[in-house]
Amino acid sequence: MTKTVKTVKTPPSAPAEGAVTSSLRVGVLALQGDVEEHIAALRACKAQPIPVKTVDDVRAVDGLILPGGESTTVGNLLERFKLAKPIVERAHAGMPVWGTCMGMIVMAERVTGSKQPTLGLLHIEVKRNAFGRQIESSEQPLEIEGLDGKPFPGIFIRAPWIEAAWGGAHILAYVDGKGVMVWQNNLLGTSFHPELTDDLRLHKYFLQMVSAAAKR
Ligand code: GLN
Repeated sequence: MTKTVKTVKTPPSAPAEGAVTSSLRVGVLALQGDVEEHIAALRACKAQPIPVKTVDDVRAVDGLILPGGESTTVGNLLERFKLAKPIVERAHAGMPVWGTCMGMIVMAERVTGSKQPTLGLLHIEVKRNAFGRQIESSEQPLEIEGLDGKPFPGIFIRAPWIEAAWGGAHILAYVDGKGVMVWQNNLLGTSFHPELTDDLRLHKYFLQMVSAAAKR
């Protein structure tokens, strides 16, 4: 039976300090990329991180993070290990999914100038390795809609930008006028790597989405 997803019209705001996350099982796709860094960040938020490698793992989690890495490799591995379909099905049924850098590329509907396989979840077109040399690998302070306090340290490593967004996709942060963070109902994408900083605000933000979806 397919669960009807309640469409949320406004982006989630930063969670209250001390929000309970210990019962949340959050998967990190563990085929390739910076898996350990996400696992450490989730542990620091007191959630239960679960490395996801099999269809059973996909079924066992309340939310899923797709880490940074190499999007053509992971797109192909998702097909080969038959993980693409179950992830898409769970995302369509409301499971929160967050892609960081490569993960956002893998979640996108379109990749500029490429036919590489993606999950087609986010209503966006992304351009890979889009920033010029000076931003190719850099830290940029980001103003993120819905996130209070100091700017977020955005770490960009051969990062994509969001070339176009449509449907329910809503851009939450920009660098030089280019979208670098997107939210679409139960889905989140960032061009940058929050898992490589010690700022846990975006992991907590995602956990807030996971917690809200688990209650529905
Ligand atoms: N450049 C990589 C790609 O296109 C993404 C880089 C990253 O995840 N840090 O797949």
